[in-house]
Amino acid sequence: MRKSILLFLTALLAATPLTAQTGNREITASAADTYAEKQNAYTPSFRIDGTNARIRNIILLIGDGMGQGAVNLGMYANGGELTMTNLKTMGYVRTQSANNFTTDSAASGTAYATGVKTKNGYLGKDSSKVNIPNIPELLAPLGYACGVVSTDDLNGATPAAFFAHQASRNAKEEIWADLPASQLTFASAGTQSVFESMPLSTQEAIKKRFTLVYDPADPAAAGSQRLVYLPPSVTQDRGDYLPATTQMAIDYLSARSKKGFFLMVEGARIDKSEHSNDLPGTVWETLDFDKAIEVAVRFAERDGHTLVIISADHETGATILSKGDPAQGYVSGIFASKSHTPMMVPLFAYGPRSREFSGVQENSDVARKILQILGSKK
Ligand SMILES: [Zn+2]
Repeated sequence: MRKSILLFLTALLAATPLTAQTGNREITASAADTYAEKQNAYTPSFRIDGTNARIRNIILLIGDGMGQGAVNLGMYANGGELTMTNLKTMGYVRTQSANNFTTDSAASGTAYATGVKTKNGYLGKDSSKVNIPNIPELLAPLGYACGVVSTDDLNGATPAAFFAHQASRNAKEEIWADLPASQLTFASAGTQSVFESMPLSTQEAIKKRFTLVYDPADPAAAGSQRLVYLPPSVTQDRGDYLPATTQMAIDYLSARSKKGFFLMVEGARIDKSEHSNDLPGTVWETLDFDKAIEVAVRFAERDGHTLVIISADHETGATILSKGDPAQGYVSGIFASKSHTPMMVPLFAYGPRSREFSGVQENSDVARKILQILGSKK
């Protein structure tokens, strides 16, 4: 009896958005479910985790929009485990921007890239529009090779926060034009056609400072000193682009610096799926992002001097897990929003000094700690 009522309610919820009047705010919720194929979840040895070993490399992985909801959906759809949830160090990140309780990806990306909170929409500039140095600009002069990988376009807010200085995240041409003067050694994101739609002068300036390839197997990539790799697509037909390019970036940066490297990897489309309340997309993108995390954690395990930090720039969709059957790869969830929310996002870390990232911290604190670790003389 109870089960049939529940099934009826679920069907009703799935068929029609649930609308409730709370005070003067209307909240519309939509429900959906999906099945996922089980993928590997890696568990490292924890031999180096939390030790005081010297850190040469830091890999920061940002799941755009990846709040508790996306992590829960991905984990239970994958039989109850992910590489990120197999880690032992956890914290929370508060994401508020300088002028808004609910941040956007530009302000939070800037906080992660510079250690300074700014206004929504700003990239690499503080609230009074003064340029703030980003992690690559601060670490490259010390000898670190720096890179970004994203499933967004390269001008997307999160990757752009690590090389551009613009008061508007929508200033697409100006953002691409900031790339040649950046301190990046490796950049890969969308796409070939976006690049080719830029003014010829910008394309030429980028090609002067970087070797540019559209195929990772292009022989020009191997002998290059600075590389931009632009795939034909970063949407769901991209195959294993994100984990494969994470590995490519690690190999490329390791080979080009004796000092060490900093790499930012973004799973950009968890957010985009949540904006459209696409539950299968949210699960698929979270699982794909976890494959890139596995690549990073496996490298950290082999290397012994690499710290991996996984978090998000903000939550999106007020996404929750409502039902599941991990053995079947089944999850059902509800979105209570089509926008970003101000909720704290989870953080996972693995490697030496990982414990410094536990507890509750601001998004800007994460960047400050990264700079403190790699910038110190130790
Ligand atoms: Zn968003």
